[in-house]
Amino acid sequence: MHEHVLHDILQQLARAAHDAGRPVPRLLAVSKTQGETAVANLARQGQVAFGENYVQEALAKQAALAASAPDLRLEWHLIGHLQSNKAADAAAHFDWVHTVDRPKLVAALARHRSVEQAPLSVLIQVNIDDEASKHGCRPDDVPALAEAIAAQPALRLRGLMVIPTPHPDPEQRRPAFRRSKALFDSLTRAHRDIDTLSMGMSDDFAVAIAEGATLVRIGTALFGARPRPA
Ligand SMILES: *Cc1c(COP(=O)(O)O)cnc(C)c1O
Repeated sequence: MHEHVLHDILQQLARAAHDAGRPVPRLLAVSKTQGETAVANLARQGQVAFGENYVQEALAKQAALAASAPDLRLEWHLIGHLQSNKAADAAAHFDWVHTVDRPKLVAALARHRSVEQAPLSVLIQVNIDDEASKHGCRPDDVPALAEAIAAQPALRLRGLMVIPTPHPDPEQRRPAFRRSKALFDSLTRAHRDIDTLSMGMSDDFAVAIAEGATLVRIGTALFGARPRPA
C-alpha cells in the first residue's frame, strides 16, 4: 500500500465535508482480512483507528502487532456482529464496539470491561432500512438501549452505527443516511455528549458525509480488494 493512498482518501473525506458544509469525519481503516504488516504500514503513516469484524481475527492481529511493532498505539473498533459468547474478549481487547443492538450485549460488555480500563466506547447499531437483516435494533428501540448503556459506568455511549441496504447506486442510500442523522439528532436531546454517527464505506462515503457521518468505515479503497474466502 503506497503512501499516497491514505493521503488521497483523507483528501477525499475533507473535500466531501467541505462541499457539504460539514465537519471532516474521522477515518476508520477497516483491516479485516488484512495482515498485520498492512496495518503497521498504515499506522506508520499516522492512521490510528482500525476496524475489525471478527473478534478472534482481531486478537491474533493485535498479538502479532504487539510483538512486531510494540511502539504502535492503535485504537481498535469492532464493527462486525457480536455474539454474546464473544463479549468478554470484545470488552477486554477493543476500544470501541459499533454493533451493540440488544440489552443482553450491553450487560455482557459492561460485566467484562475491567475497571482498570477506560470505559468502552459503544455505538448502537440500528437497522435503518433493511427489514430482512437480523442485525441492528429497530429505530424505536434506540432510546431504551441508550438508557441501558448510559446506566453502565464501564460503557460510554458515543452514538449510532448503520449499514444501509447495499445498492449499486450510492444515491439510493441517501434517504437511509438522512433518517440515521435525524435519529442521531433526536438522541442528542437525551444524551448531549454523544459525538459519533458511524456510516459510509468505500463506495458511498461521500453521500454519508453529506448527510452527516462523523466517522466513515473504509476498507477496499484503502487496502484494495479483499481476497475472497476459498
Ligand atoms: C467490511 C466493512 C466495511 C468496509 O467496507 P469497504 O467497502 O471495504 O470499504 C465497513 N463497515 C462494515 C460493517 C464492514 O463489514
